[in-house]
Amino acid sequence: MKLLSSKLDPTSLKVRLTSGIAAFSAIGLGGLAVWTSVRMQHILVSTHKENIVYIAERFPHDVEIYSDMVSLEEGAQRAIDNLSNDNKILWIKDNNNVVSAKSNKLEDEAIATKLLSLKNVPPIPQVQDLRGDYWLLCATPLTVNGVTLGEFYIAQDITSDQIMFLNLIRSLIIATLIAIATMTITIAFYINRSMKPLKRISQITSNISADKLNEAQIHLEKAPSEVRELADTFEQMLERLAQSWEHQRQLLSNVSHELRTPLTIISGYLQSTLRRGSNLTDIQREALTTASSEADRTVQLLKDLLDLARADSGAIHFQNEKILLNDLIVDVAEMAQQYSDRHINVEAPNKSIAIEADLNRLKQVLLNLIDNAVKYSEPGTNITVKLCSKNNDAVIAVCDRGVGIPLQQQPRIFERFYRIDEARNRAGGTGLGLSIVKTLVEGMGGKITVRSQLGEGSTFTVCFREV
Ligand code: ADP
Repeated sequence: MKLLSSKLDPTSLKVRLTSGIAAFSAIGLGGLAVWTSVRMQHILVSTHKENIVYIAERFPHDVEIYSDMVSLEEGAQRAIDNLSNDNKILWIKDNNNVVSAKSNKLEDEAIATKLLSLKNVPPIPQVQDLRGDYWLLCATPLTVNGVTLGEFYIAQDITSDQIMFLNLIRSLIIATLIAIATMTITIAFYINRSMKPLKRISQITSNISADKLNEAQIHLEKAPSEVRELADTFEQMLERLAQSWEHQRQLLSNVSHELRTPLTIISGYLQSTLRRGSNLTDIQREALTTASSEADRTVQLLKDLLDLARADSGAIHFQNEKILLNDLIVDVAEMAQQYSDRHINVEAPNKSIAIEADLNRLKQVLLNLIDNAVKYSEPGTNITVKLCSKNNDAVIAVCDRGVGIPLQQQPRIFERFYRIDEARNRAGGTGLGLSIVKTLVEGMGGKITVRSQLGEGSTFTVCFREV
C-alpha cells in the first residue's frame, strides 16, 4: 500500500510528466479520431444527402417536362417512377395531406406505415432512426408552373451505410483508447527509468552521515549528462563540507584541550584554598565552593567534548581486554556510592559473565549511567545494576525509579546537547553524557537501549557479545 501511494504521489515529477504527456497524446489522438470520423461521415452519408438535395431541386423541373403531354399529377407520378429505386422512395402529399403520387415501394404496407405517417420532416436531409432502420429524409413544398401541388417527400434507406459507419466509429474509439493506454504505459515506463539515477542520488545522500562526508561517492553510470553533472556538483559540495567539518572538529578538539589544563589548575587551587582556608568568612567559602563546582563542571564538559571530537575523528583507541563483568559491576557500584551517598543494589548471577572491552571506558559508561540514575530520581528510591546473560549476550541494566523519560523523547536523548526539559534538570549537566556513552559503547562493539515510563523510572541496557 505504501509502495502504491509512493508510486502515485501526484506531486512527483514522474506522475506529472506521465499524466501531462498522456493528456497531450490523448488530445492529439482524440482529435485525429474525431477528424477521421467526420471525414467518414462525409464520405458515407454526405454524398447521399447531396444527391437528395439535387433530386429535390430538380424534381419540379422533371414534373414540368413529363406533364407536357399529361396532367400535372400524372407527370409527377412518372417523375417519381423514374427517380425511385429499391432504396430511394418518393411521394407527394397534396394540400389536403392526401398522398397524390408515390413510389411503388410504398405499396408495401410496412414501409408505407413507417414513412407516410411521418410529420415535421425537415427541408434539409437528416438521418432518422425509424425503429432500427436508418433513413435520410427531407420534404420540400412542390410548385410546378405556378401551381402548388403540395409537399414532396424523399426518403433514402441508408441503414447498411449507417451501420458500417457506426461500426467504423466503434473500432476507431477502441483503437484510440488502446493507443492512448499503450502510449501512457510506455511513457510511464520510460520516465520511471529516466528517474532512477535521481532516486539513486537521493538514496546515497540520505545515507551520508556527518562523519562519513569524505567517503561519500555518487557514481552514476548510464545516467543522463544533466544528472551526472548534478551528482558531480553534489560530490564537490560534500568534499567542501567534509573539509569544513574536519576544521570544526579540529578546532573543538584544540580548544577543549587548551582550556582543560588551566581550568583543572584553577579547580585544584580553589579546592586547596577551601581546604586550607580556616580564616575564610561564610560568604567567601560559599563563593569559592560555587566557583569550584562550576570549574569542575566546565572541566567535565571539556573532557566530554574532547572525547566526542576524538571519537568523531576516529582517534579514540580502545584497549580491549577480557573483563569479568560480575566483579566490574560490584566495583562500579561501590565507586558510585562514594560519590553520591546513594545505595546502589547489584544483582548478578553466580555464573561468570565476561566480555572483551576497554576497562576504563566501560567503567566510564556505567558510572555515567548510574550518575544519571542518581540525578533523575528521588534520594529514597532504588537504583539497581543488573547483570545477566541472554542468547550469548552479556546484558547490564541500570534501573532507577525516577522521573522517567517521555516516549517521544527517548530516541533523542542520545543526541549531543539534548536535554529533555531544563526545569526537570535542576541537577545540572551538559546534555553530552549519553551521547558519549553511546559513542563509547558502539565503539567497543556493543549496543545501548532505553526503556522508560514517565513517573515510573528508566532502565538503560548495555549489551555486549559474551566471550
Ligand atoms: P545530562 O548532562 O543532561 O544528564 P545526558 O546526555 O546524560 O545529559 O542525558 C540527556 C537527558 O536525558 C537528560 O537531560 C535527562 O533529561 C534525560 N535522562 C538521562 N538519564 C535519565 C534517567 N535515568 N532518568 C530520567 N531522565 C534521564
